[in-house]
Amino acid sequence: MNKNYKLSLALGTLFSFISFICTGAEKLPSPFIILPQPQSVILLKGPGLEPGKLQQIILKGEFKRPVTGNILSLLTIGKSTVSGTVTLILDKNNTAIPSKEGYILTISQDRVEIISSGEAGLFYGCQSLEQLLEDARDYRKPIPSCRITDYPVLSYRAVHFDLKHHLDHMNYYYESIDRLARYKINGVVIEFEDKLRYQRQPLVGAPQSISIDEMAALTLYARERHIEVTPLVQGLGHATFILKHQEYAGLRELSWNTWAFCPLNEGTYQVLFDLYRDAIAATPGSRYLHIGGDEIGNIGLCPRCKPMADKDGMLSLSLYWLKRVCEFARENNRIPIFWDDMPLKEGGVYESTWSDEVTSAQADKAWEEGIPKLDKLLTDFPKNCVYMRWNYSMAKQPGNIHALDWYESRGLKAMIATATNGEGGMLFQEDERDNGSASSGIINIRSFVQLAAERNISGMLCTAWDDKSPHMENFWRGFIAAAEYSWSPKGRTLEEYDNAWLQREFGLSVPDYVSFNRQLRRGSALWYEAYFKNGNLLSDENTLQSMQRVEHWLPALEGQEKIQFDYTTKLIELPDLKFPGSWSRKYKERLDRALTEADNYKTLSDRLVGLNNTSKRNRYYWQLSLALYNFQSTAPKMLLALKQTDSADETQRKSGFENVKKTLREFQLAWSEVQSVYSQTRFVSYPDNYIPDRYFHLASQREDLSWMIQSEELFFGMIEKWLQNQR
Ligand SMILES: [Zn+2]
Repeated sequence: MNKNYKLSLALGTLFSFISFICTGAEKLPSPFIILPQPQSVILLKGPGLEPGKLQQIILKGEFKRPVTGNILSLLTIGKSTVSGTVTLILDKNNTAIPSKEGYILTISQDRVEIISSGEAGLFYGCQSLEQLLEDARDYRKPIPSCRITDYPVLSYRAVHFDLKHHLDHMNYYYESIDRLARYKINGVVIEFEDKLRYQRQPLVGAPQSISIDEMAALTLYARERHIEVTPLVQGLGHATFILKHQEYAGLRELSWNTWAFCPLNEGTYQVLFDLYRDAIAATPGSRYLHIGGDEIGNIGLCPRCKPMADKDGMLSLSLYWLKRVCEFARENNRIPIFWDDMPLKEGGVYESTWSDEVTSAQADKAWEEGIPKLDKLLTDFPKNCVYMRWNYSMAKQPGNIHALDWYESRGLKAMIATATNGEGGMLFQEDERDNGSASSGIINIRSFVQLAAERNISGMLCTAWDDKSPHMENFWRGFIAAAEYSWSPKGRTLEEYDNAWLQREFGLSVPDYVSFNRQLRRGSALWYEAYFKNGNLLSDENTLQSMQRVEHWLPALEGQEKIQFDYTTKLIELPDLKFPGSWSRKYKERLDRALTEADNYKTLSDRLVGLNNTSKRNRYYWQLSLALYNFQSTAPKMLLALKQTDSADETQRKSGFENVKKTLREFQLAWSEVQSVYSQTRFVSYPDNYIPDRYFHLASQREDLSWMIQSEELFFGMIEKWLQNQR
């Protein structure tokens, strides 16, 4: 180490300290980007590090070489510091960095040094370096000499894999772990439902579920990348995946309802604890066990439970269950995580935590009245539990803030849960930034994470609900945004985030990404509505299942359990050729929208093809986008072809019929393509011996992907008949 280098190191350390106070004083010059945004960057004098310069890696301290990305993995282990060396220093007593996940990365013309007090910090330093090396290679520029001092603001940064209605192939999960590690995510909560092959209760696992061994191997793979896998096994409510089996019917609170267990039946705990034991075995060495516990309806009704519910209230039953499962967790060395909505409901404050209709004054009043109720229950709130406060909107509702305050003041540990798909569709996601409390998309993730950081809450879970079962790729922009903001809550603007995301994920620059996405999204909105008289595919009143009452805690209305309802009555009728033009007048608004979509089709599809062709990485995302775009574009095409048939002009009408037939064929091709792209990563159908897990979610209504095209199946069936009648 030469004198100047020593001096610069000393000065650099001094500057690093100063920069703790004034973060973001300097930025890496374009095109260099680290995602998530590092806490502090100081540019140093001297030429930068040329791509391809690094040859070897040296480890100083007792630790295993960290798992690294494609570029750093090529370096051989060296012994002495020469030009082209990356030196990793584990200095357990180093107090210059406020976290074992933090690191100082120093880059100069011919060498790199990463120092940390923890192995996680060295791993994250390598991830940052890998990103810079990627940019140096992609843009053929030297990395500027610099010192980066970095550490996360939130210490638990997790994302959610929800396997409720689908399962991806194992290799997709392995790839996902690598991808999450790049962005310094350190937790994955896997909601297994019936996708784990439980050994102690073998009925529960679906035929193609993941074996305990396979999941344990994934858990160890993740741990090597500093990601902890947490199992989520739903218990008291949300239990259809268990209670659907006739063999467990005796454990249901109500014999006809598969939603909830009876909390006072000991058999409930025998089954749940068996599932927990298997889930723990499948995730060896992990700290947490997520026990769900939200949306528990339909308890306190059986002869066993009713007296207790009448005497002590409904919540006493949930809390009894919570106490039992928390005891189990403690005995098994796990910290339970629990969705917090049921106690808040009992306290009368739940609505204030998410609804924008509740005013500040109403929220204050609700909490004033609710706190004594919650305090009274406090002795029954297990102390070893993490209370997960979820909010999928802007999170600034006064009631939500009261809830965080209450947990903090009562010494209960809270974490926050945000969502990558609050809107929950299966095509292009909404991303509305300028809509006040009704904003959607990554702005919501940032908002709640910033609130958590201000309140010193150290944990964040970015949920990815499978209710509409979009392809997992649709979640990634949100996952990576959660990584960005939980590491650096105030680092980047949303625009800066999008640029960083596009560069890191794809090696692309798309300056008008937001408006481009908005155009794609507009086509999705039309697709959802295209064939419905009112509302859209996602509206409750249009639910295309043999059950009129969609709330999961309500029985089907009497006589409607197996009703053969004619769902075509929910769809628009076809043109009546006796009255040419009347259909077009009636549906003018959607036909105008269809025309706009059709006009934009070539431009947008060409752009998606172009992005696919120029993307340096993760092209699959654009293949999927293109398949979804072509699929949703069949709706405006069909509407316009029908409009053409709605004409008094014989020639127009004739070519309209031809276009209708052509669009039917195009739809089949586009749909095949969606299935083919999906099947590259996920199972697109259940085996024949699968016992359906039906409830009100659209994605649970079929055993293959065809739940997505239920309205097309019905509407195109109408068209086939209609075409025959025109002959
Ligand atoms: Zn009961």
